[in-house]
Amino acid sequence: MTQHQTIAGSCLCGSIKFEIAPPSTAFKYCHCTRCRKATGTAHAANVFVPQSQFKWLAGESLIKRFDLPGAKRFAVSFCTQCGTRMPHKSAGNDNMLIPAGVLDAAPDIQPDSSIFWGSKAGWFVETSALPKHEEYGK
Ligand SMILES: [Zn+2]
Ligand SMILES: [Zn+2]
Repeated sequence: MTQHQTIAGSCLCGSIKFEIAPPSTAFKYCHCTRCRKATGTAHAANVFVPQSQFKWLAGESLIKRFDLPGAKRFAVSFCTQCGTRMPHKSAGNDNMLIPAGVLDAAPDIQPDSSIFWGSKAGWFVETSALPKHEEYGK
């Protein structure tokens, strides 16, 4: 991939499409309790890019944003048709937060850290410690 090739993203129903342009700023796994609630899983996987490197291509009007009352900057955006988490502008800085799982190709960077590690779920096990199956397993 060339340095300036864009990376596409979309929701599960395909109504919302966007693209990001490298270089990405950061890529973090967040184990905070809010991210666990909002994603329904052990941690969020968030890529950050400056707003100027982000573009909506379709379906922006289908997005609903929820800003958590009382939180300084926690928000989630999602497709109102299929519920897929969508990117949103971070409060307090110029970055767009991109849930990495909605990208249709690998971003230009890999995760650099796990944050809010002290808040991780009591049941969280490092994936490196688990047996691997190509599909469902037993
Ligand atoms: Zn959708
Ligand atoms: Zn978090």
